[in-house]
Amino acid sequence: MLQDKVKQLKALEAKLHAYQHASGLIYLDAVTVAPKDTAAGRGLTLSILAEEQYKLLVNDTVGQLLEDLDAEKDRLDPQTAREGHQLKRSYDQTHKIPMEEYVAYTQLLNDAQSVWHTAKATDDFALFCPYLQQIVDYNRKFAGYYNSAKAPYDALLDQYEQGITMETLDRYFDQVRQTVVPLLKKVVAAPQVEAGFLHQTFPVEAQRALSGYLMDVMGIDRNHCVLGETEHPFTTNFNNKDVRITTHYYEDNFVSSMYSVIHEGGHALYELNTDDALAYTCLAGGVSMGIHESQSRFYENIIGRSEAFISLIFPKLLELFPTQLAGVTAHDLYRAVNRGEPSLIRIEADELTYSLHIMIRHELEKQLIAGQLEAKDVPAAWNRLYQEYLGVDVPNDTMGCLQDSHWSGGSLGYFPSYSLGSAYGAQLLAVMSREMDFYGEVAKGNLAVITDWLKEHIHRYGCMYYPADLLEMACGEPFNPQYYTDYLTKKYTEIYNL
Ligand code: ZN
Repeated sequence: MLQDKVKQLKALEAKLHAYQHASGLIYLDAVTVAPKDTAAGRGLTLSILAEEQYKLLVNDTVGQLLEDLDAEKDRLDPQTAREGHQLKRSYDQTHKIPMEEYVAYTQLLNDAQSVWHTAKATDDFALFCPYLQQIVDYNRKFAGYYNSAKAPYDALLDQYEQGITMETLDRYFDQVRQTVVPLLKKVVAAPQVEAGFLHQTFPVEAQRALSGYLMDVMGIDRNHCVLGETEHPFTTNFNNKDVRITTHYYEDNFVSSMYSVIHEGGHALYELNTDDALAYTCLAGGVSMGIHESQSRFYENIIGRSEAFISLIFPKLLELFPTQLAGVTAHDLYRAVNRGEPSLIRIEADELTYSLHIMIRHELEKQLIAGQLEAKDVPAAWNRLYQEYLGVDVPNDTMGCLQDSHWSGGSLGYFPSYSLGSAYGAQLLAVMSREMDFYGEVAKGNLAVITDWLKEHIHRYGCMYYPADLLEMACGEPFNPQYYTDYLTKKYTEIYNL
């Protein structure tokens, strides 16, 4: 009976969800409040949970169930059909990797991550190099298991942004390169923006009060979302009624945590606003890395780094930091938080140069997976591209190709989604600006009208649609990077009087 099979499907999804909930909570505990020497027991629990979760999905009974549902997908309601489709995709991909290769790869990643830490701390690329090459080789092989009909890098990209291809990305990054590289040159040549006042002592207690205020301004329901503290801020969601965000306070820089809270708050609103009907299914939560980043960066940059928003929150900032901001105007702060300058470190990059950092990683990954570049040649290629696009000399590999943890964790094809998020956001802004006085609403603190728009067109759908289709439905046209480069050009031309 089809109805029984649907019941089995829903029960399986609920169980998979429960395992994710448990391991997610253990992870959150580990990186926020757990005492330092507690990793061993947690590692044991997590590995047992991971094994059980794997066995729950990858077995002949589930394989048969997903086949049967696929054969009758036309008789299913759209949501259930989509659940079956997405779960079958996970099943096929996990199932196709031979167990011994999977185990060996997991071991390799384990070793690679600790070797990467040492290599980064001691500026020793040669130490990490053989691990990177093996990770690349495994990923090329796995790409064939995921989808042998696709080019290997396309199959990897599909893991993070389903449906995106190298062709789309190449066209996208061409546009970014042609606009942002010359724009940055003009910015560098222009009189620089004063930002020294951002580096004073800002007591952490006042910064904590600011975080709470920002969550309220954003309309984040604190009965369903709480803020924790960690080394590298992130968001984790257990379900659409329980989302956790994190930040990190630096006493000499309040802006860092301020934008972390807004960024992670953007991720949280997306999760909190997904439809109840999708909860506890494999369609719960955000659809892709790119769409998720489009939401976090929308709040962080398009709203949070606008003059309207800075003016809105400025009285509160003056109240919290009266001596530090004495003599500073909202306009000064707006310019300071939008300072554009070439730099070496991706996570500290500004809105203007961020995508150039990503473009470099994308070019290198693509060549590594295609076998056109070997791991040993990465530092030289990295340094050459930083000079070409950002005009900076990379002094060592610690600040160069060893700075990010992604490759050591096996994530190849992940980076582009960060940049795509910014570009998707600019396109959404263009549509919303046709329908409302966007920055007028921001200035009034009426962010609810903006969040409601995003909920209606993006958030509520969870994983119901492919990222490109979702964006096209929201915008009335396919992805077009012109909106993003126009947005950056307009913003930086004004700030720097170019
Ligand atoms: Zn993010």
